[in-house]
Order: sequence, then structure tokens, then C-alpha cells
Amino acid sequence: MRVAIIGAGISGLALAYYLQKLGIPYDLFEATTHVGGNIRTVKVHEYLLEMGPNSLQSTPELKDLVRELKLEREVMHAAPEHDHRYVLRAGSYTRLPSSPFSLLSSDFFSWKSKYRILKEKDVPPADIDYETVAQFFERRFGGKMAAYTVSPFMPGIYAGDPEKLLIKKALPRLKELEMRYGSVLKGLVQQKNSYVRQKTFSFAKGMRTLPKAIAGKLISLHTEHRVEMITRSQGKYIISCASPGDYDTEEYNLLVLALPAYQAAELLQYTFPGLSAAMQNIHYPPLAVVHTVYNRKDVTHSPKGFGALHPQLESAFATGSVWSSSVFDGRCRPHEVLFTTFVGGSQSPEKALMERPKLLQGVHEELSALHGISADKPNFQHAYLWKHSIPQYDMHIEDAHTMAKDLEQEGLFIAANWQSGVSVANCIHYAKELAHKINLKRPHVLNS
Ligand SMILES: Cc1cc2nc3c(=O)[nH]c(=O)nc-3n(C[C@H](O)[C@H](O)[C@H](O)COP(=O)(O)OP(=O)(O)OC[C@H]3O[C@@H](n4cnc5c(N)ncnc54)[C@H](O)[C@@H]3O)c2cc1C
Repeated sequence: MRVAIIGAGISGLALAYYLQKLGIPYDLFEATTHVGGNIRTVKVHEYLLEMGPNSLQSTPELKDLVRELKLEREVMHAAPEHDHRYVLRAGSYTRLPSSPFSLLSSDFFSWKSKYRILKEKDVPPADIDYETVAQFFERRFGGKMAAYTVSPFMPGIYAGDPEKLLIKKALPRLKELEMRYGSVLKGLVQQKNSYVRQKTFSFAKGMRTLPKAIAGKLISLHTEHRVEMITRSQGKYIISCASPGDYDTEEYNLLVLALPAYQAAELLQYTFPGLSAAMQNIHYPPLAVVHTVYNRKDVTHSPKGFGALHPQLESAFATGSVWSSSVFDGRCRPHEVLFTTFVGGSQSPEKALMERPKLLQGVHEELSALHGISADKPNFQHAYLWKHSIPQYDMHIEDAHTMAKDLEQEGLFIAANWQSGVSVANCIHYAKELAHKINLKRPHVLNS
């Protein structure tokens, strides 16, 4: 049995790694010269900049992976204050309570709002088709809770719009609590003892450390191999691949697509036109990532914490910032501070696409106002545009998920963030489960 995996982002790399551990032959094809996909760390002068993910959650799989890859010494844990997250409220930052329970004991909400939140336990559960994150929170907790606690996280995690993201897809755990315990609050209380807050970490040399280390272990990784065509013959997948000065065609029993939906859609348009059309519908909004550095002495409200989220009703320029130098050491010089700011996403795509000087100026002006920065201009600024950032778990993703599930019978699998959940930890978890699923298919495929 041979497995073709297309795409060496974290999903494809993790899948190849776990298949290799199980002794299953595979070929992992990556179009570019480098691995990691969305995970992109760039060193510019003395600044360590993350264009994609900034940090990871320390899940059991990730802990094991770090140990197996012997990366313990490279791990950099987030500073103790990383738990402090802020939300923009009436033009200035207010600290978010660190857990759902402390939300009720803190003065973040008025008594009236807290009373409404507590009433959630009396709201009957309802399974509503295509219910969005915003509708779910409105229904169960009332509007204030949604606007200032959960909704700002949606642009933060998905570059997404809570009015469009589906609760079942974007926050499945909360929906499960409602359906299982009759109320989210009741569920949280029931599961209180099993709730462990995962630690946040990165690596001294940035996030790229992880994909590079996985790649270093793989025996069948082919970079600069762009898959250009997929056909089927007698139940097998024929993969045609362009590499520098060469063009190869190989046959495989199983095929795993570990690439963004819009790229996978192109490859499947003749072989599986239905799935291809459904994947084409998955929306990836544009998102700009802007890094800005100031002298610490020029920043009146020096950032201490993970960062801040900007709810849409505050009409801010950016959707939020990670206060990178406050979370991890070594991101800039000791006398400086580094902000990583996100602009655009589903709620305001046009802002991500604005002219670069305007984008940089907009970020500088907003940071200056929010942090009391006296410098006329930053020491350094850098912008990176994701034309297609993060897949939206909205109503358009449903068809692709359903069709992809059905096609597993045909030996076609998906391992990508539009299937597994968007966090790096989700991608790794899903890849590991898929490797075991493929392993179970081994006797069947060998006998066919
Ligand atoms: C701005 C931003 C911030 C984020 N922040 C966080 C965060 O802080 N924490 C977190 O956990 N997650 C974060 N994420 C999400 C996370 O980074 C991604 O969901 C995850 O890295 C996606 O991995 P993937 O392997 O599924 O896909 P990708 O990373 O998209 O990898 C796909 C790979 O396929 C390759 N490919 C494409 N076409 C072909 C072809 N025809 N042939 C061969 N190869 C091909 C591509 O070159 C690429 O390497 C962030 C994402 C973005 C964009």
C-alpha cells in the first residue's frame, strides 16, 4: 500500500511523520522549496517575525512530538502574564477574565448582564440548523456577552465573522455542552475538574522550528514537487508532478490532500467535480499581518499580556494585536517592544488590501493612541499579506465536509485546516488520527 500526501504544511508533515512511525510507505509532495505552509518565521535585522501562527497550545500530542523530535531545549514558554488578554471597550483596553468562572466574579460585566448570563442555565437547548456563533450567544447569554467576550475571538482565531461562522463548526465544544447538559454553564460546571488550561509556547528560533524538525525525520519528502494533475485508473490514483527539469507520474492506493481547499479544488476538478465545486466555495478572507517596533521608553502603556482583541462594534482599524515581545523573549532588542497586528479578515477584507503605506500608517496611529506612544514613527515596520488566510467554518464549508467524508470510501482523504480545525494543534491531532485510520485500512487495501 502506498499513500500520496500533497502539501507539506503542518498537516501533511504530521501525517507523514505518523505514517512513517506505523511503517506505512508514503510520498509527501511539496510545491515550494520550504516546508511548513502557513508557519512562516522570518528574521529581519534583529527581529524575529511570525507571518502566520505566533504560538502553540501544549496539547498531549504536541508535548509528545516535541519530546520525540528532541526539541525540549528549543521550547520557549510564554511569559507568566500571557494569560492576560485584553478587549477594546469604549476606546480603551479592559482585561478579560481568564476563565468562564472568573467572568462572573469579576467586574467585567454589570450585575444586570451577569444575571442574564446566569439565566443561561434555564434557556432550553435547541438544535438549530446553520446557527451562527453570534446567534448562539445571543440566544443563550444575551447580546453583551457575545459582543465583548466570544465575538472578538472569532476574528482573532479565524479572521472570521461571528455573524457567519457556524457554532457547530467553529466552537463545537460549546455546542456539545449545550446538547449534553442542557446548558453551557451547567456543562462547564460538570466538567470543571477536567478543564485544564493548556500552556502556550513557541521556540527560541520561532515557529518554523517545528516543521523543520519534522521534515528532518522524514524519509520520503519531496520539496519542489508541485502536483499538477490527479487522475484515477482501476481504483488507483495517478499523481503527476512537476519538479525542476522533470515531470513524474506515479500510482498510489490512497491519496491525502493536505492543502488549502481552493488549491485542492483545482486538482480535483476533473476526477471529483462535485467535491471540487464544494471546496471552491470555502472562503479564505484576506488578512494583513503588520509587525511594528518602538523604543520601550516611548510607550506609555507598555504591553504586558498576550494581546488585545477589538470587537467589531468598537470600529477599530485592526482586529487586534499580539504583544509579541511581552509573550516571548528574543523577538526584538531588549529596549524595544514588538507588536504583531492583524488587519482585515472576514469582517473588513478591504482593509487588508489597502495600499501598504496607508496600512502601515493606520496600524501605527492606532497603536500610538491605544498604548500612548510618543514616537512620530516606529523603529521598524513590516507588512505581510495573506491573500487567502484562514478557511471560514461557515455554511459554505458543510457540503465539502459531507462530500469529503463520503469519498473516504474511495481512498481519498483530507488532512488540512479546513477539515481538522484551524489551530496547529488541531491539524496535528487530526493527522495522527488519520494515520491510524489509514493503518486500519492496510489489510483491506493489500487484499484488493
Ligand atoms: C495569519 C495566521 C495566523 C495564525 N495564527 C495561529 C496561531 O497563533 N496558532 C495556531 O495554532 N494556528 C494559527 N494559525 C492557523 C495555522 O497556522 C494553520 O491552520 C495551519 O498552519 C495550516 O496548516 P495546513 O498544513 O493545513 O495547510 P498549509 O499551511 O496551507 O499547507 C499547505 C501546503 O500545501 C502546499 N501545496 C499547495 N499546493 C500544492 C501542490 N499542488 N503540490 C504540492 N504542494 C502544494 C503549500 O505550498 C503548503 O506548504 C494562523 C494562520 C494564519 C494564516
